[in-house]
Amino acid sequence: MIPLSVPVLKGNEKNYMDDAICNGWVSTAGSYVTRFEKEMADYLKVPATAALQSGTAALHLSMLLSGIERNQEVIVPTLTFIAAINPIAYLGAHPVFMDCDDTLNLDCVKLSEFLKSECEKTKEGLLNRSSGRIIKAVLVVHVFGNMADMETLLRLCSQYDLKLIEDATEALGTRYTKGSLKGKFAGTIGDFGAYSFNGNKIITTGGGGMITARRDEDLIKAVYLSAQAKDDPFSYVHNEIGYNYRMTNIQAALGVGQLECLEDYIDRKTYNYNYYKSILKDWTDVSLLPFCERARNNHWFYSLLLNSKSLDRDTLMSHLRESGIEVRPVWKLNHTQVMYQNCQTYRIEKAPFYQSHIINLPCSVNLCEADMDFVANALKPV
Ligand SMILES: *Cc1c(COP(=O)(O)O)cnc(C)c1O
Repeated sequence: MIPLSVPVLKGNEKNYMDDAICNGWVSTAGSYVTRFEKEMADYLKVPATAALQSGTAALHLSMLLSGIERNQEVIVPTLTFIAAINPIAYLGAHPVFMDCDDTLNLDCVKLSEFLKSECEKTKEGLLNRSSGRIIKAVLVVHVFGNMADMETLLRLCSQYDLKLIEDATEALGTRYTKGSLKGKFAGTIGDFGAYSFNGNKIITTGGGGMITARRDEDLIKAVYLSAQAKDDPFSYVHNEIGYNYRMTNIQAALGVGQLECLEDYIDRKTYNYNYYKSILKDWTDVSLLPFCERARNNHWFYSLLLNSKSLDRDTLMSHLRESGIEVRPVWKLNHTQVMYQNCQTYRIEKAPFYQSHIINLPCSVNLCEADMDFVANALKPV
């Protein structure tokens, strides 16, 4: 079986974890947590980061610290993993669903049109005329590691006074190589950024996440809230409702080891993407969705686009599975999930097409050319 995406743990991960265990520091206090935060901050070229239990926790705290309140709204893409949407509901707020563009990221042209034609600036904030609610933030997802159009998003969010939260859970290492944001990493451009180290992400801590913030005080607050909001750690004084969201030292030890491999993993993922592309190039019924030109993308996940009417996605997926190749469709669109089916949507036109015409191919770092040849051969008889 060729798996879709499995971790590779062949660097110093075991040494660092053994060290943490031998020293007895396995919980949230411990030197690997601060070391992982520091090394991630150095890598991302930001002053600091805060290590958490999951990407979802990072998104939840980002939204909380953006000041999103009950009954307010957050603009989100419909084509993404549900973990990007649920924290809005945790806060009693509501998502407004947007379409994707041809890179699968949030369609900024439609976003701009929505803000201009459907919203108005008021003393309370940006009013969504049809719902009567205040829109507080835009959450953008760098889908499959592909850099979203952050230049446009920054401009729109500053023009309409919205917070900008980046879900960079799939895009660690993706960085601008052109324009005014050249050198900036996905997740370090908006007001907040969230990373994930779940088992299927480009690097993993088993489960884990990280948050970045433009303002230092927000990051300090994130750490405070992630550790039960202790105002006096000795006598149990808490002046706010906190969370148990802090990363453990064991996870962080794994993370320090994985981070050492990140650039190598990006190289391999990029090589493998190009290899798939070369072996599929004469095959017109399918093609690999390109990554954007504005960035060095991490090439986390590969999207096979079915161009031909004669190719049925589900038939092809079961054929591949029967051939021993693990594949997945992209996510069921969030505005069609039962919890969100009554939420507002704006001109969702492309997302249903991509949702029904894309298959994610095996993309693990340890994939070899023979594996990819096998996948390509399995595609051909169809
Ligand atoms: C993985 C992922 C998350 C959640 O990260 P966890 O660490 O699993 O909580 C959120 N958003 C997207 C787009 C993801 O792919």
